[in-house]
Formats: sequence, structure tokens, C-alpha cells
Amino acid sequence: ASQFASLPPVASDEVFDLIGAYLADAYPERVNLGAGVYRTADGKPWPLASVEQAEKLQQAANDPGRHEYLPIAGDQEFLKLARDLVFASGASGWADQKTDELRIASVQTVSGTGANHVGALFLAHHSKAKHVWISDPTWINHHTIWELAGVERRLYPYYKASDCSFDFDGMIKALDEEAERNDIVLLHACAHNPTGIDPSKEQWKAIAEVCQRKGLFPFFDSAYQGFASGDPAEDAWCIQYFFEQKPSIEMCVAQSFSKNFGLYGQRAGAFHLVTSTPSAEIRDGVVAGLSHIIRGEFSMAPRFGSSIVKTILQSEALTTQWMDDLQVMSGRIKTMRESLYNELIKLNTPGTWTHIVNQIGMFSYTGLTVPQIKYLREKYHIYMLVSGRISISGLTPKNVEYVAIAINDAVQ
Ligand code: PMP
Repeated sequence: ASQFASLPPVASDEVFDLIGAYLADAYPERVNLGAGVYRTADGKPWPLASVEQAEKLQQAANDPGRHEYLPIAGDQEFLKLARDLVFASGASGWADQKTDELRIASVQTVSGTGANHVGALFLAHHSKAKHVWISDPTWINHHTIWELAGVERRLYPYYKASDCSFDFDGMIKALDEEAERNDIVLLHACAHNPTGIDPSKEQWKAIAEVCQRKGLFPFFDSAYQGFASGDPAEDAWCIQYFFEQKPSIEMCVAQSFSKNFGLYGQRAGAFHLVTSTPSAEIRDGVVAGLSHIIRGEFSMAPRFGSSIVKTILQSEALTTQWMDDLQVMSGRIKTMRESLYNELIKLNTPGTWTHIVNQIGMFSYTGLTVPQIKYLREKYHIYMLVSGRISISGLTPKNVEYVAIAINDAVQ
């Protein structure tokens, strides 16, 4: 018999399963609220205008080196732009650029997932953390990534189901009373996936205070910078606050360009580790340690997506276009939140629905129950995760009334 005959069972990926089931459904009114990808008002994918212009520029340049290997740590020019976007976007820029740059070790990764993974492996090998604290709930892949890195996972409360709100007190209490010195705390920089609920600025300050006092290591997952509010600086506010106001905290950022540049399948990303000591030697040592992992896993990141991001961020005109593109995407999401809310209210749908408009980013935690979700799928062919998470970008002016009628029916 095969030595692989009795492998431990692995749960299949719910999001990708859902997409498969949706595609196999011939019902004309079917609605996909599962996948976390941007869709236009016609339900179509959208190559950003800034990305299309960058592609044209690259085609015209016809660089014979465009398929060469990147260096192991990645494209240095891209990494500087990626780093500046996280740490210095917005009016305030760098506080002290020379010193600040000495605190940040950056490498290019296979998008946000790869950044999370390389970061987790690096910390598993080189940090003093005993545990990683993960929000309950979180993006499901966080569990897989940290399981594979071999770091013990602990959950901190995040969501209060009773009123679909942020459990700030529960989170602070867990970090304050249970987390141990050097433990890692995984934080969503903005547009928390799956709940759509972010801490306020005052709450972020309190989280930073606990991290500093307890000697915790914040691990920011930044997968939606600019996509959430439309403003990249606003969406990186918490990271910039920790970086500038709490310089004794060591931390890291996993940066994705999937959503904010619409480059999903191109796998563009970066990982930044911030040390408390401005030192070229320490910084370069961290880059070397990260490069060692990268070399052993995939040698270097892919170059097409990062070259597009670089071309855009190097050009003032294309950056302006990109900012407009962010407004288009975040604006449509906000409009669809309002439409869904208005339709539910119009129907006198039982329950409160303000959380739908108060949440931010790609996702909304609806508060719908498992039987209701099953009912929506069987009767109305509406596809969503069993947690009740919906992807707002699956809503369009054409289907939002249908979805509201279905939800109204399901909760009766
Ligand atoms: N983190 C979070 C919280 C996400 O929602 C996502 C995208 N679904 C990612 C990271 C990474 O995505 P990608 O690997 O496509 O950049």
C-alpha cells in the first residue's frame, strides 16, 4: 500500500469551494458574496486605470531584461516605494528619514500571504515569542500560516456577536492578563477580515500601550491599504502611530498589493521588520535572515506585479491616477453598503442593520445564522461563508434589492 494512504485529513478551503459551487450553479439570479475580490457594478473584474497605463508604458519600453531574475531580497527600488507607502504616506512623511530607514528591514514576497508566511517563519526561528495571538475570528489563512510555522496559537476576543461590535475590552484584557513577554500579536492594519470592524484611533493607542508595557511584538497584516477608506495614509494610521510614537516597540508589517492595485494573481508584496535600534548592521542581518528563508523556499519573488506597482509609484501622474482608482473602488463599496442597508430598512427587516454601514472594507459580518445562510443558498442561490461574512463587492445595483429581499425572508 502507498505510504500516503492514510494522510491526516485537511479541510478544503471554504472560499475556493464556494466559488466552485457558485460557478457550477446555472440559476440566472445567483449571487456570489464569497470571494474577496473587487468587482465592478456589472460584476466584472476591474484592471485599474493606473495599472493599464503602467502596462502600456512597460510594453512601449520593451525592456529585454523584463523576464530576468530579481535579487533574492527583491527589487530594491520597489521595496523603497513599498516601505514609504506603509510608513511615510500622508502629509507627515518621515519624522527623521535617515534614522527611520535604519530601523526597517524590507524584503519582497509572494504577495501578502507570502509576507505573512516568511515573517512567521523568521519569527519562529529568531524571536523569543512563545505564542502568537490571533483575533477571534480572523482571516482563516492566518491559522494555516502559523500552524505551518510551528508557533503555538492563542486567540484574543475581537467580535461581540450580541450586537455585531468590536470586543475592545475583551481584546485588551486578554493581551494584558494572558499574553507573555515577547509574544506576537497579529493585528489587521485596516478593514479587518472577516468582520469589517476596525479599532478607533483611541483604541489603537490603547493597544499600542499594552504592547509596549507588556513587551509584545505587533505583527501588522496590511492587505487593504487605500482600499478601505480610499486614503493610503488613513489606512496605515495605526502602523505609523506605532512606528513614530512607540519607537521602543519592535514589530513587522506584511504588505499585500492584491486588493489596492487589483493585482491578485500577480503576487506582489513585501515584508518589513522594524527594529528598535537604528543600525545598518542589525537591519542588514535581518534582511540576510529573511533572504535565507526566501532562497530556500522560492529563491525570489515574481517580478511582473511589483514592476507595475513600481512604475505607478515612481510616477506622480500615475500615483494620482491610482488615488482616483482607490476612490472608485472604496466608493463603490461604501455605496453598496448603504444600498443594502436602505433596502433592508425599506422592507422593515427584523433586527438592526447599522453595522453594515459602520463596517469598513471588502467584508461585512452580517450576523446571519447558519440555517439562514443555508436557506439563502438553497432558495435564492446566494453564496456566502458559513460565518455570515459577505463580500460587499459582490453586490451590484442590479442584485442588491434581490439580496435584501432574500435576507428579509431568511430572518423572518
Ligand atoms: N491578509 C488578509 C487579512 C487578507 O484578507 C488577504 C487577502 N485575502 C491577505 C492577507 C493576502 O492576500 P494576498 O496573498 O493575495 O496578498
